[in-house]
Amino acid sequence: MHSESLIRLGSFVAILAMMFWSEGAFPKRALSAPRLRRYLNNLAMGGMSTLAVRIFLPVLPMGVALYCSANQYGLLHQFAVPYWDACILTILLLDFAVWLQHMLFHKVRALWRVHRMHHADVDIDASTAVRFHPIEIVLSFAYRGILVFILGAPAAAVLVFDVLINCCAVFNHANVSLPPALDRWLRLFVVTPDMHRVHHSTDMREANTNYAFNFPWWDRMFGTYKAHPDKGHENMSIGLNIFRDAKYVSAIRMLAMPFL
Ligand SMILES: [Zn+2]
Ligand SMILES: [Zn+2]
Repeated sequence: MHSESLIRLGSFVAILAMMFWSEGAFPKRALSAPRLRRYLNNLAMGGMSTLAVRIFLPVLPMGVALYCSANQYGLLHQFAVPYWDACILTILLLDFAVWLQHMLFHKVRALWRVHRMHHADVDIDASTAVRFHPIEIVLSFAYRGILVFILGAPAAAVLVFDVLINCCAVFNHANVSLPPALDRWLRLFVVTPDMHRVHHSTDMREANTNYAFNFPWWDRMFGTYKAHPDKGHENMSIGLNIFRDAKYVSAIRMLAMPFL
Protein backbone atom coordinates (compact mmCIF):
# COMPACT_ATOMS: atom_id res chain seq x y z
CA MET A 1 0.00 0.00 0.00
CA HIS A 2 1.29 3.51 -0.85
CA SER A 3 2.18 5.63 2.17
CA GLU A 4 -0.45 8.24 1.15
CA SER A 5 -3.18 5.56 1.15
CA LEU A 6 -1.95 4.52 4.58
CA ILE A 7 -2.20 8.12 5.86
CA ARG A 8 -5.72 8.43 4.44
CA LEU A 9 -6.94 5.10 5.81
CA GLY A 10 -5.14 5.47 9.16
CA SER A 11 -6.56 8.94 9.86
CA PHE A 12 -10.05 7.79 8.82
CA VAL A 13 -10.01 4.70 11.07
CA ALA A 14 -8.60 6.73 14.00
CA ILE A 15 -11.27 9.45 13.86
CA LEU A 16 -14.03 6.89 13.22
CA ALA A 17 -13.00 4.92 16.33
CA MET A 18 -12.84 8.15 18.36
CA MET A 19 -16.30 9.27 17.21
CA PHE A 20 -17.80 5.77 17.66
CA TRP A 21 -16.64 5.85 21.28
CA SER A 22 -17.82 9.47 21.80
CA GLU A 23 -21.25 8.66 20.36
CA GLY A 24 -21.61 5.93 22.99
CA ALA A 25 -20.32 8.12 25.82
CA PHE A 26 -21.92 11.51 24.92
CA PRO A 27 -24.80 10.94 22.47
CA LYS A 28 -26.71 13.98 21.23
CA ARG A 29 -29.89 12.25 20.06
CA ALA A 30 -31.53 8.91 20.82
CA LEU A 31 -31.19 6.73 17.69
CA SER A 32 -34.29 5.09 16.22
CA ALA A 33 -32.49 1.71 15.88
CA PRO A 34 -29.30 0.14 17.32
CA ARG A 35 -26.39 1.51 15.36
CA LEU A 36 -24.51 -1.67 14.36
CA ARG A 37 -26.65 -2.54 11.30
CA ARG A 38 -26.58 1.02 9.99
CA TYR A 39 -22.85 1.29 10.64
CA LEU A 40 -22.14 -1.90 8.67
CA ASN A 41 -24.34 -0.95 5.71
CA ASN A 42 -23.04 2.62 5.58
CA LEU A 43 -19.43 1.43 5.76
CA ALA A 44 -20.17 -1.15 3.03
CA MET A 45 -21.40 1.75 0.88
CA GLY A 46 -18.15 3.61 1.56
CA GLY A 47 -16.18 0.51 0.50
CA MET A 48 -18.18 0.20 -2.72
CA SER A 49 -17.60 3.87 -3.54
CA THR A 50 -13.84 3.48 -3.04
CA LEU A 51 -13.88 0.44 -5.32
CA ALA A 52 -15.95 2.29 -7.96
CA VAL A 53 -13.42 5.14 -8.02
CA ARG A 54 -10.55 2.66 -8.59
CA ILE A 55 -12.48 0.89 -11.37
CA PHE A 56 -13.90 3.89 -13.26
CA LEU A 57 -11.24 6.58 -12.95
CA PRO A 58 -7.90 6.10 -14.69
CA VAL A 59 -6.14 8.46 -12.30
CA LEU A 60 -6.86 9.94 -8.86
CA PRO A 61 -6.45 13.65 -7.92
CA MET A 62 -3.10 12.83 -6.24
CA GLY A 63 -1.79 11.29 -9.48
CA VAL A 64 -2.97 14.36 -11.39
CA ALA A 65 -1.12 16.63 -8.93
CA LEU A 66 2.13 14.64 -9.26
CA TYR A 67 1.84 14.76 -13.07
CA CYS A 68 1.26 18.54 -12.98
CA SER A 69 4.25 19.22 -10.74
CA ALA A 70 6.53 17.01 -12.87
CA ASN A 71 5.47 18.92 -16.01
CA GLN A 72 4.88 22.38 -14.49
CA TYR A 73 1.24 22.36 -15.63
CA GLY A 74 -1.57 24.47 -14.20
CA LEU A 75 -2.34 28.03 -13.13
CA LEU A 76 -0.31 27.95 -9.91
CA HIS A 77 2.81 27.00 -11.90
CA GLN A 78 2.02 29.49 -14.69
CA PHE A 79 1.84 32.36 -12.22
CA ALA A 80 4.81 31.02 -10.20
CA VAL A 81 2.81 31.15 -6.96
CA PRO A 82 5.18 30.39 -4.01
CA TYR A 83 4.84 26.82 -2.69
CA TRP A 84 3.17 27.52 0.67
CA ASP A 85 0.76 30.05 -0.86
CA ALA A 86 -0.10 27.46 -3.50
CA CYS A 87 -0.83 24.90 -0.75
CA ILE A 88 -3.14 27.25 1.17
CA LEU A 89 -4.88 28.41 -2.01
CA THR A 90 -5.41 24.80 -3.11
CA ILE A 91 -7.06 23.82 0.18
CA LEU A 92 -9.32 26.90 0.20
CA LEU A 93 -10.29 26.61 -3.48
CA LEU A 94 -10.97 22.86 -3.27
CA ASP A 95 -13.10 23.41 -0.19
CA PHE A 96 -15.11 26.13 -1.92
CA ALA A 97 -15.46 23.89 -5.00
CA VAL A 98 -16.79 21.04 -2.84
CA TRP A 99 -19.28 23.44 -1.20
CA LEU A 100 -20.45 24.50 -4.69
CA GLN A 101 -20.67 20.88 -5.83
CA HIS A 102 -22.79 19.99 -2.79
CA MET A 103 -25.19 22.86 -3.56
CA LEU A 104 -25.49 21.69 -7.20
CA PHE A 105 -26.30 18.16 -5.99
CA HIS A 106 -29.28 19.73 -4.19
CA LYS A 107 -30.40 22.09 -6.98
CA VAL A 108 -30.07 19.92 -10.11
CA ARG A 109 -32.81 17.28 -10.19
CA ALA A 110 -30.78 14.38 -11.62
CA LEU A 111 -27.95 15.03 -9.16
CA TRP A 112 -30.37 15.24 -6.23
CA ARG A 113 -31.67 11.73 -7.10
CA VAL A 114 -28.11 10.50 -6.54
CA HIS A 115 -27.36 12.63 -3.47
CA ARG A 116 -30.67 11.94 -1.70
CA MET A 117 -29.36 8.53 -0.61
CA HIS A 118 -27.03 10.38 1.78
CA HIS A 119 -30.03 12.24 3.20
CA ALA A 120 -32.24 9.15 3.44
CA ASP A 121 -30.44 7.98 6.61
CA VAL A 122 -33.07 8.32 9.36
CA ASP A 123 -30.37 8.70 12.01
CA ILE A 124 -27.09 10.42 11.45
CA ASP A 125 -23.83 9.41 13.04
CA ALA A 126 -20.17 9.04 12.03
CA SER A 127 -21.04 6.20 9.62
CA THR A 128 -23.25 8.57 7.59
CA ALA A 129 -20.01 10.34 6.57
CA VAL A 130 -19.24 7.56 4.06
CA ARG A 131 -22.82 6.90 3.02
CA PHE A 132 -22.69 8.40 -0.48
CA HIS A 133 -23.77 6.74 -3.69
CA PRO A 134 -20.79 5.42 -5.71
CA ILE A 135 -22.00 7.56 -8.66
CA GLU A 136 -21.65 10.69 -6.50
CA ILE A 137 -18.19 9.70 -5.29
CA VAL A 138 -16.93 8.89 -8.82
CA LEU A 139 -18.30 12.23 -10.11
CA SER A 140 -16.80 14.13 -7.21
CA PHE A 141 -13.32 12.56 -7.64
CA ALA A 142 -13.44 13.31 -11.39
CA TYR A 143 -14.45 16.92 -10.63
CA ARG A 144 -11.69 17.27 -8.05
CA GLY A 145 -9.16 15.76 -10.49
CA ILE A 146 -10.08 18.32 -13.15
CA LEU A 147 -9.74 21.18 -10.64
CA VAL A 148 -6.35 19.88 -9.49
CA PHE A 149 -5.26 19.79 -13.15
CA ILE A 150 -6.44 23.35 -13.87
CA LEU A 151 -4.72 24.62 -10.73
CA GLY A 152 -1.61 22.48 -10.96
CA ALA A 153 -2.17 21.91 -7.26
CA PRO A 154 0.74 20.68 -5.07
CA ALA A 155 0.36 16.97 -4.27
CA ALA A 156 0.91 17.54 -0.53
CA ALA A 157 -2.00 20.01 -0.42
CA VAL A 158 -4.23 17.57 -2.30
CA LEU A 159 -3.40 14.88 0.27
CA VAL A 160 -3.98 17.26 3.21
CA PHE A 161 -7.34 18.26 1.72
CA ASP A 162 -8.31 14.61 1.28
CA VAL A 163 -7.46 13.77 4.89
CA LEU A 164 -9.17 16.95 6.09
CA ILE A 165 -12.44 16.28 4.26
CA ASN A 166 -12.55 12.64 5.40
CA CYS A 167 -11.86 13.51 9.04
CA CYS A 168 -14.20 16.53 9.07
CA ALA A 169 -17.02 14.49 7.50
CA VAL A 170 -16.71 11.80 10.19
CA PHE A 171 -16.60 14.47 12.90
CA ASN A 172 -19.50 16.59 11.63
CA HIS A 173 -21.84 13.62 11.13
CA ALA A 174 -21.12 12.21 14.61
CA ASN A 175 -24.08 11.91 16.98
CA VAL A 176 -22.08 13.54 19.71
CA SER A 177 -23.02 16.26 22.15
CA LEU A 178 -20.48 19.08 22.46
CA PRO A 179 -20.70 21.77 25.16
CA PRO A 180 -22.54 24.75 23.54
CA ALA A 181 -19.64 27.13 24.18
CA LEU A 182 -17.19 24.75 22.47
CA ASP A 183 -19.58 24.32 19.53
CA ARG A 184 -19.92 28.09 19.12
CA TRP A 185 -16.14 28.56 19.13
CA LEU A 186 -15.37 25.56 16.88
CA ARG A 187 -17.88 26.54 14.21
CA LEU A 188 -16.01 29.73 13.52
CA PHE A 189 -13.40 27.51 11.83
CA VAL A 190 -14.91 24.11 11.15
CA VAL A 191 -18.33 22.55 10.52
CA THR A 192 -19.55 21.01 13.79
CA PRO A 193 -22.02 18.12 14.27
CA ASP A 194 -24.74 20.59 15.34
CA MET A 195 -24.18 22.69 12.22
CA HIS A 196 -24.28 19.76 9.79
CA ARG A 197 -27.25 18.10 11.51
CA VAL A 198 -29.46 20.99 10.33
CA HIS A 199 -28.59 19.88 6.77
CA HIS A 200 -30.11 16.42 7.44
CA SER A 201 -33.53 17.77 8.42
CA THR A 202 -36.64 16.35 6.70
CA ASP A 203 -37.70 19.99 6.31
CA MET A 204 -36.21 20.84 2.90
CA ARG A 205 -35.87 24.50 3.83
CA GLU A 206 -33.36 23.35 6.44
CA ALA A 207 -31.81 20.62 4.23
CA ASN A 208 -30.99 23.33 1.68
CA THR A 209 -28.67 25.10 4.14
CA ASN A 210 -25.22 24.36 5.60
CA TYR A 211 -23.64 22.78 2.51
CA ALA A 212 -20.10 23.14 3.87
CA PHE A 213 -17.97 20.10 4.76
CA ASN A 214 -14.80 21.58 6.26
CA PHE A 215 -14.86 25.35 6.62
CA PRO A 216 -18.20 26.95 7.54
CA TRP A 217 -17.36 30.29 5.88
CA TRP A 218 -18.94 29.64 2.44
CA ASP A 219 -22.41 29.21 3.92
CA ARG A 220 -22.03 32.42 5.91
CA MET A 221 -20.75 34.28 2.83
CA PHE A 222 -23.49 33.09 0.47
CA GLY A 223 -26.45 33.24 2.82
CA THR A 224 -27.05 29.49 3.23
CA TYR A 225 -26.05 29.32 6.90
CA LYS A 226 -28.55 28.17 9.51
CA ALA A 227 -27.35 27.97 13.11
CA HIS A 228 -29.91 25.51 14.53
CA PRO A 229 -33.00 23.55 13.41
CA ASP A 230 -36.33 25.24 14.22
CA LYS A 231 -37.53 22.26 16.28
CA GLY A 232 -34.24 21.90 18.18
CA HIS A 233 -31.63 19.14 17.75
CA GLU A 234 -33.40 16.56 19.92
CA ASN A 235 -36.85 17.04 18.36
CA MET A 236 -36.02 17.67 14.70
CA SER A 237 -36.85 14.92 12.22
CA ILE A 238 -33.91 13.50 10.24
CA GLY A 239 -33.99 11.78 6.85
CA LEU A 240 -36.33 11.90 3.85
CA ASN A 241 -40.04 11.33 4.16
CA ILE A 242 -40.12 9.01 1.10
CA PHE A 243 -37.47 6.59 2.42
CA ARG A 244 -38.35 5.99 6.08
CA ASP A 245 -39.09 2.28 5.88
CA ALA A 246 -36.61 0.00 7.73
CA LYS A 247 -35.92 -1.92 4.49
CA TYR A 248 -33.95 1.08 3.18
CA VAL A 249 -31.15 0.38 5.67
CA SER A 250 -29.77 -2.30 3.31
CA ALA A 251 -26.85 -1.35 1.06
CA ILE A 252 -28.56 -2.91 -1.99
CA ARG A 253 -31.62 -0.66 -1.56
CA MET A 254 -29.35 2.32 -1.04
CA LEU A 255 -27.71 1.61 -4.41
CA ALA A 256 -31.16 1.56 -6.04
CA MET A 257 -32.31 4.88 -4.53
CA PRO A 258 -31.43 7.16 -7.49
CA PHE A 259 -33.62 5.00 -9.75
CA LEU A 260 -36.66 4.48 -7.50
ZN1 LIG B 1 -26.72 17.35 1.08
ZN1 LIG C 1 -24.28 14.83 5.58
